[in-house]
Amino acid sequence: MNYPNKPSRMNLPSHVNIYLCALIKLCMFDSREIETVGRLLAVPQNIVLVSHKNPDGDTIGAALAMMHYLRKKGHSVTALVPNEFPGYYNWIPGAGEVVVFDRNAHAVRAALAEGQLLFCFDFNSLDRTGNMAPDLEKFAGRKIVIDHHLEPGDEFDHYFCSTASSSTGELVYEFIDALGDKALLGMEEALALYTCIMTDTGSFSYNCNHGRTYHIVAELIDLGIDVANVHKLVYDTYTEDRLRLLGFALSNRMMVWNDLHTAVIYLTKEDLKRFNYRVGDTEGLVNYGLSMEEINLAALLTEKDNQIRISFRSKGDFSVNRLAREFFNGGGHKNASGGNSKMGMDDTIDKLKEVLQHLKEELDYAVSL
Ligand code: 5GP
Ligand code: MN
Repeated sequence: MNYPNKPSRMNLPSHVNIYLCALIKLCMFDSREIETVGRLLAVPQNIVLVSHKNPDGDTIGAALAMMHYLRKKGHSVTALVPNEFPGYYNWIPGAGEVVVFDRNAHAVRAALAEGQLLFCFDFNSLDRTGNMAPDLEKFAGRKIVIDHHLEPGDEFDHYFCSTASSSTGELVYEFIDALGDKALLGMEEALALYTCIMTDTGSFSYNCNHGRTYHIVAELIDLGIDVANVHKLVYDTYTEDRLRLLGFALSNRMMVWNDLHTAVIYLTKEDLKRFNYRVGDTEGLVNYGLSMEEINLAALLTEKDNQIRISFRSKGDFSVNRLAREFFNGGGHKNASGGNSKMGMDDTIDKLKEVLQHLKEELDYAVSL
């Protein structure tokens, strides 16, 4: 089901180009899956949309775009998240309607009890929804996943997955397109989908090497969105506390292990309290470590909910998906993943260093053209 590598179309006769384009489009999703789900969506349904825990722009944007699209098709739709999402996504149309499990488990359970179809966005294993997972496992209707992570689990009925897409938002666009419904896309869907692509590519700096991403973005812009505005709404809305936390983290909480080509930032519960931490305040912080020339791996360790949340980023060949999966109870993508540890901050740092000592040779490379 993976999006094939873009074939070279140079010097090909135009009818061959047209054929290749059609082939790529047909290959995007399994046509029987599209047909089956298309048939399910041909009559009004009660539909529940779910994002992953600690929601980011991609999972929220994908769910909200689908919410608007499915309502236009005549369905009843409820969007659910396991826990609160950052306030800088509140402006996405429909964000105010999202039901948060941590705050209102009763309403979430009621929506799930009435639901006939469940769409999952930006995760491929129900345990990524944290405390909400047991309720999702009991869901009586069909479960559909739209996602771009590695190694999907087997608990879904229908899969619309590709690891070669910039974001789940991009796959939502492809899904709507594959159902022949592009004409239903409007400003609300475009704002939500652009947010997915912008946030999951770090404003077009990684996961964005397929021309198709830019064709989709061009279509979203043609629907009327203002990309500079979206960027400001997401990235230029720091509180003073958040900016000072960033300064503190870089000055006082960053360790650089040059021999391991690794930079680690850690933040304790007390640190977060000191800067009046709000959900989303540490988003993007891990990337700063990676901006140093010889650093190939960056980690951010944050003490939350009596455990250590870990974000990993890498540049080049080193797979942080493997690192998170094998040693820190997590996973994600090759260059961006997350996990957790129940060992406490000092012991987690020691464990990370020890694991990396064994992977030292794999971390020793220079990124080149
Ligand atoms: P972040 O560091 O931004 O929280 O997450 C980076 C990437 O890793 C995202 O694609 C996210 O879905 C994935 N990820 C984060 N935490 C976990 C986790 O605990 N388990 C798994 N399987 N993936 C995670
Ligand atoms: Mn994503």
